[in-house]
This record gives sequence, structure tokens and C-alpha cells, in this order.
Amino acid sequence: MTQCYRNYIHGKFVDNTTGETFEVINPATGEVVYEVQVADETVQQAAIESARKGFAQWSAMMPVERSRILYKAVALLREQNDELARLESIDTGKPIQETIAVDIVTGADAIEFFAGLAASIEGNQQDLGGDFYYTRREPLGICAGIGAWNYPIQIACWKAAPALACGNSMIFKPSEETPMGAMQLAQVFTRAGMPDGVFNVVHGDGRVGAWLAEHEAIAKVSFTGEVGTGKKVMAAASNTLKDVTMELGGKSPLIVFQDADIEEAVSAAMLGNFYSQGEVCTNCTRVFVHEAVFDAFMQQLLERTQNNIIAGDPLHPDTNLGALISAKHRDLVLDYIEQGKQEGATLAYGGSAIQPHSAPGGYFVEPTIFTDCSDDMTIVKQEIFGPVMSVLRFSDEQEVIQRANNTSYGLAAGLMTRDVRRAHRVVHQLQAGICWVNSYGASPAEMPVGGYKLSGIGRENGIETLKHFTQLKAVYLGMNKLESPF
Ligand code: NAD
Repeated sequence: MTQCYRNYIHGKFVDNTTGETFEVINPATGEVVYEVQVADETVQQAAIESARKGFAQWSAMMPVERSRILYKAVALLREQNDELARLESIDTGKPIQETIAVDIVTGADAIEFFAGLAASIEGNQQDLGGDFYYTRREPLGICAGIGAWNYPIQIACWKAAPALACGNSMIFKPSEETPMGAMQLAQVFTRAGMPDGVFNVVHGDGRVGAWLAEHEAIAKVSFTGEVGTGKKVMAAASNTLKDVTMELGGKSPLIVFQDADIEEAVSAAMLGNFYSQGEVCTNCTRVFVHEAVFDAFMQQLLERTQNNIIAGDPLHPDTNLGALISAKHRDLVLDYIEQGKQEGATLAYGGSAIQPHSAPGGYFVEPTIFTDCSDDMTIVKQEIFGPVMSVLRFSDEQEVIQRANNTSYGLAAGLMTRDVRRAHRVVHQLQAGICWVNSYGASPAEMPVGGYKLSGIGRENGIETLKHFTQLKAVYLGMNKLESPF
């Protein structure tokens, strides 16, 4: 008998009435690890009622009190880091060496960052010759968070942190493929002393997500997922003119100039394609390498990919390439690889599904590298969300900027160069919300992240995000006798 988890409403797990459940599979074994109850209508109504009460209590608290509770949650998350990392690896198939070092840590960092800002949210006032006005930054109300499966607990933290710091309550729906992290976070919040109803977790697939996006009681929806789903969420949210934050997909470029440190350039390309087995939204899946250093870059890239990647049981500390999220997703990634071959790219490394000894039932795909790619190939244009790198040659700065921007996405970009003027000149022309220079993938809580073009709307993290979870009220004070023509 597998364990069945329930929806987390008003500080506790509650039963649904329909009895409908879904299964969650460990991607590294292919086995069902637990079941989860779907949030049916009874649960949905309870979630809204609870979030209303949670909002009333939470928004009336002193901001420093909210901070204190959020800081307590940060301490609990850090105390539980290794256990939470293990659960996250079982849900996602990601190597434990990553989840221990990154997933919970970066989630806790965001809560800590926004806990520190909660008591600094302020308005201003201006004199108008006797009369005056002042502004208040007020919370929005009940916010919805809808998460993707690649960084489940981190996404839940990144959405909850600014929302709750600003005094909102949140109903969070994790991906149905990875529901564990959000449930753990909800329990941590309760143990930290957060009032019931401030953070509820509802489970289910897109239908539950669509309900959140449509519901009139919800003021905002912060969404992480695919562009196509994001468009649907935004369309549904438009019926009630909800505020939206959209963290969507990407097809980001990494540009390796002729003066780059090749070792670091290869590190950036490998981090930005093989970390989390390629399931990272900001991945630099289009690696543009200057022709003068192309051969040196390729030689080192192939050598390090062959020698340094260890695919296997994600819970083994040496594993650095985990399993893809599902059999369906693995097959999709393999289809893209097939299309790459058919469209004439050269498969320089990998390209097949693998069954490591330590995890024979898992959904693994080899790290895969294509060369001789052209900009119009499917593998160069579409987000694959797997360990598949396309390497492209370039010879001229303006040419590569134009090619890097030639995509409907605009999430991230990276460039490797020792020339400081070139770095800034190029960055200023790149159409991307996040640009890394001589680095790739780091996303500290202090730094705003989000996309240009189809990659998103709004930002997560950074002080900027406070604006996305508050609304501005202007208050005009008449100090003089009110004149009227009537
Ligand atoms: P997805 O769009 O399939 O699902 C995301 C979430 O939306 C899930 O919780 C799902 O249940 C829900 N959903 C599905 N249909 C819905 C609907 N009609 N209304 C409301 N909710 C609905 O995405 P995914 O496969 O879980 O995640 C992978 C995608 O997420 C990739 O495109 C990746 O680039 C993107 N991503 C972006 C960021 C970022 O910060 N920009 C971060 C992580 C992942």
C-alpha cells in the first residue's frame, strides 16, 4: 500500500469527498512512490475560505511579526535541508548532490531575503499646498501560485516569499508530477507559527490550475511553466483582470568569444545544459562558439562530457546526471534528438536513452551534443528541456548578437569574454531578462529574474518583486475648504 497524501488547508491535511487520487512516480525507478488526493470542489471551497481568513489575520499583523515567522521557517528549512533534499530527489529524479546544495538552500534564501524586506515596505507623501496626498503599498489579497516540476520546493518558496512578506495569503498548486516539496513547505510554515490559511496547498493537474486562474476571489496568479500553459493561464486570469507573473520557457544563447577562458566556457556550457539533466528554464541550449576557438572548445567539451558525467541513482552522492521527470518526457527528448539527426546536425556525443546499473528502471538520457547545427533546425529553435546541447559557429560580433536574439524567447543569455567593453556592449543588445558574463545559471535571491518576449511577464526575487505583490493606494487629504460649482 502506498501512502496517500491530502490537500493542506488551514494548517492541516484534509480529505476530499470524491476520493479521486493520482499517482506520483519516482523518475529514477519508474515506481509509484505515493498517491495524492485531487482538490475537488469541497477542498477548493475550503481553500478559498481558509485563505480569506488567513489573509485577514496575516495582513493585519505588524510586518516585523511576519518577518519573525518567515525567519523561523528559514531556520526550519535549513535544519531539514538533507531530508527535504532527499524527498526532492525522489520526486524529481535530480541528483542529491544538487538538491542538498541548491534546491532547499535557494528557496530558504528567498524567504530570508523577503523576510528582511517585510518591514521596509513603505509609501511616500507629498505636499500639495496645504492639501497633501500619501501612498500606501497594500497587499493584493489571496494570491495563487502554480508551479512546474523542475524545481518544486524552490519555486514554491520563490512565490510564497514575496507574496507572504507583503501580507498576502497564497494558495499554491504544485505540479502534479512533484507535489511533495510544497506540502513540506506548508508544514514548515505552520511549525514556524504562521496563522492557518496563509499558505494552503491544493493538488491536481491543469484543471485545478485553471480553477485558480479563473477564481474571482484570487487577486493574482504567479505561474511557472511552459509558454503555452502560461498563455492559457493569462487568458483565464483576464476574466477577472488578475495581476499575473509569468515565468516561462526559454532557448537561451551562450556566446563564447575568441578571447574567452576555454575551460570556463566549457564549464558554463556544461552547467547550462547538463545540470538538473537539462531541465532548467534558463539553460543555454544554443552555444555559439567563435570559429577561432571552436576546435579547442569542442575538444575539451567532449573530453569532459565523456570523463566527468556520472549518470545513476540520484540518491548516490557521486551521481551528477539524474533521470528525466517521466517516460513521456524522456521520449519527447529522444524525439527531438532524432529530429536533430534527420535535419542534418552531427551527433557529436550521446543521443540515446540509458539504463544505469544503479537505476535500471529510470528515465535517463545521455548528455547529448550536436554540432554542425544551423539556426533553423528544430533542436536549435525549440525548448527541449533535456540534456541536449546545440553548438553553433560564429565569426562576427554583430552577426552573433542578431542570431542570439533571433528567437521568440528571451529568458536568459550568457557570454564568455575577457574584454570588459565587449561584454557590456553585447549584453546591452541582448534581448533577455537575465544575462550572465563569465558565469552561468547562478540566481541569488537578491537578483531579479524573469523573461523578455515569450519567456515571461514580471519578475521573481530581488527588491523589484515587492511591487508585483502589492498595490498602490493614493490617499488625498483635503485640508482646505472644499470648493464646488454646485
Ligand atoms: P507546464 O506548463 O506543463 O505545467 C506547469 C503547471 O501548470 C503545472 O502545475 C500544471 O499542472 C499547471 N497547468 C497545466 N495546465 C494548466 C491550465 N490550463 N491552467 C492552469 N494551470 C495549468 O510546465 P511543466 O512541464 O511543469 O514545466 C516545464 C516548463 O516550465 C518549461 O517550459 C520551463 O522552461 C518552464 N520553467 C520556467 C521557469 C522560469 O522561471 N522561467 C522555471 C522553471 C520552469
